[in-house]
Amino acid sequence: MNNEINTKSNGSSAEPPGAKGVLECLRSSRQFVMCAHEKPDGDVLGSGFALGMALKRIGKDVVYFLDDDVPANLRFLPESQLTQRTFDGVADDAIFVFLDMSDQWRAGKALNWVPPERIINIDHHLGNHRFGRWNLVVESEAATGSLVLGLIVALGVPITSDIATCLLAAIISDTGCFMYSNADPHTIRLAASLMEAGAQKDRINEQLYQTRTFSGQKVLGRALDTATLTDDGICYSVVSRAMLEEFGATYEDLEDVVGALRAVDRCEVSALLKEAPDGTFRVSMRSRGRINVMAAAKKLGGGGHFRAAGATINATQDQALSAVLTAIRAEMAEGARAAG
Ligand code: AMP
Ligand code: MN
Ligand code: MN
Repeated sequence: MNNEINTKSNGSSAEPPGAKGVLECLRSSRQFVMCAHEKPDGDVLGSGFALGMALKRIGKDVVYFLDDDVPANLRFLPESQLTQRTFDGVADDAIFVFLDMSDQWRAGKALNWVPPERIINIDHHLGNHRFGRWNLVVESEAATGSLVLGLIVALGVPITSDIATCLLAAIISDTGCFMYSNADPHTIRLAASLMEAGAQKDRINEQLYQTRTFSGQKVLGRALDTATLTDDGICYSVVSRAMLEEFGATYEDLEDVVGALRAVDRCEVSALLKEAPDGTFRVSMRSRGRINVMAAAKKLGGGGHFRAAGATINATQDQALSAVLTAIRAEMAEGARAAG
């Protein structure tokens, strides 16, 4: 890809605030640790691997820290076999690059200790806490991968086909293969240039959207079968650990069950409550576009985007469900008030 492409935020000619400081830090430091949020997705991993590959090309030392397995459907990403669960080889002066998260704690317990003065924070979530010494946060970007592309171009590193595949996976992952409203012309232009640079679009889509385990499909069936649609347009379902065990499915298999719930014609907001291995409940929420589920998630101690958000709730199933419905309804009332 030629380095003249306009990667600036949503086509604006200005470099986003924070980019300069991040670039200076990337150029001047020696070692970087890429850090993902819990339950890693295509955006956080694709962004980390792409930036890691680019930094290696300018002679930097890179560690991919991941206190998790790489999800099976993302193991095709270049570098995905290099993640490590320890800090072996991490030097005292290493810089930690937190990607795609609004809060440091979203990276999980293993990364709580990292002090702000060693953190670069690159993100696109609403209400990012600017928890790093260097922060590049652009809420209008569809994916963290878009911001990483801008950084790599600014570093003068050529976009190899491997880098392009990682970044296109990031964008495709966060735009639902360009189906969501965040897939604006700017984002699609970036994606087109990544394809020109050799990104494997078909492979990415095959892995992200056309490949599910058989047990995962069975759990999807059960979650839909037992779903509830309320009169006020909330479509929700609960997946317990027992249900997963019954089908031999994993938590990872639940990716986008919440999207299938949202597809119901009378649904304004969908919610999927998932019992995590530690007994807590994770809720995923999706909005058709009128209700701000990020605000609902925030009331539950979580976060996300206007149309896609989540939270972790430490409560019994009944309490968690009731809290979720209350939070969504508060947002619905807020939306109705705002509409006049
Ligand atoms: P998910 O429903 O897990 O696919 O997440 C949807 C969006 O909400 C993503 O952008 C997540 O980063 C965000 N999100 C999910 N869970 C949380 C949480 N506990 N805290 C903050 N943001 C979250
Ligand atoms: Mn993410
Ligand atoms: Mn993202």
